[in-house]
Amino acid sequence: MDYKNNILETIGNTPLVKINKLVADIPALVLAKYETFNPGNSVKDRMAIKMIEAAEEQGLILPGGTIVEGTSGNTGMGLALAAIIKGYKMVCTLADKQSKEKIDILRAVGCEVIVCPTNVGPEHPDSYYSTAKRIAAERPNSWYVNQYDNLANTQAHYESTGPEIWEQTDGKVTHFVVGVGTGGTISGVGKYLKEQNPNVKIWGVDTYGSVFKKYHETGEFDENEIYPYVTEGIGEDILPKNVNFDIIDGFTKVTDKDAAVYTRRLAQEEGMFLGNSAGAAIKGLLQLKDEFKEDDVVVVLFHDHGSRYIGKIYNDEWMKEQGFME
Ligand code: PMP
Repeated sequence: MDYKNNILETIGNTPLVKINKLVADIPALVLAKYETFNPGNSVKDRMAIKMIEAAEEQGLILPGGTIVEGTSGNTGMGLALAAIIKGYKMVCTLADKQSKEKIDILRAVGCEVIVCPTNVGPEHPDSYYSTAKRIAAERPNSWYVNQYDNLANTQAHYESTGPEIWEQTDGKVTHFVVGVGTGGTISGVGKYLKEQNPNVKIWGVDTYGSVFKKYHETGEFDENEIYPYVTEGIGEDILPKNVNFDIIDGFTKVTDKDAAVYTRRLAQEEGMFLGNSAGAAIKGLLQLKDEFKEDDVVVVLFHDHGSRYIGKIYNDEWMKEQGFME
């Protein structure tokens, strides 16, 4: 018989899928690391389980304890699945700009969900960061995950996502392009790939309203770069410890409109029904067109699934309200 002992054993070993029509103008082979095949439908399952195992090893969480995290939804889903199998309670705080589907999904897998205002700074007591910290401090036997600064996040990608991409491309990968939020994905994969071949180029996709690109180019944390934006999952108004700027060759910024429009194009032209940051990632890759030559193998990572965005990106009324569609 061939079976897994529980759902957590299905995490990882996702396929690489060639992108065809959308990248017709690019001379290189462009492959998508297709993370929606994880059981929680996102790449974040990988780091969720790794962060919990690291906390267990360090004695930060005890049997029956409560896991608390500020999450845009995907990390919460991964943590929730692991919490169910491992017997923990799960509390998620998130910003009210997140899609309703993400909130409903977290509740469906047993999370207590606390919705916090989006347009307050991270240090504000009502922000989803501060709320998560406060709950973890108040509740006995609880552990605040802090995916931004918890380096088990990067480690998960160094141990699984990076090696998978290297092996699946027979070591031929030349470029890795990926949206950056906590930085775990780019830093873990980037470090692994550069250790195998220092010539592999690592490109981050950022949003307008986020600090990463300017900080990478100038070393300056510029508050003027921070303003509200619509794209979900990528960009930050803080510098998470998981963003290892040293292994990143450059950032490109994608507009909210382009991220939304290209998410829909992936669904309609490639049959890839994905989340908002996938549109940002593929548009970012297209913006980097001049970087790629004929024999290059470019891997772009798609973080999550389209079902979480049916009320937004895949809804014509919402697209019109945002001015993303005529
Ligand atoms: N896309 C989506 C949909 C996400 O949820 C995240 C995680 N915030 C990212 C991209 C960015 O990944 P990372 O946190 O590893 O930088």
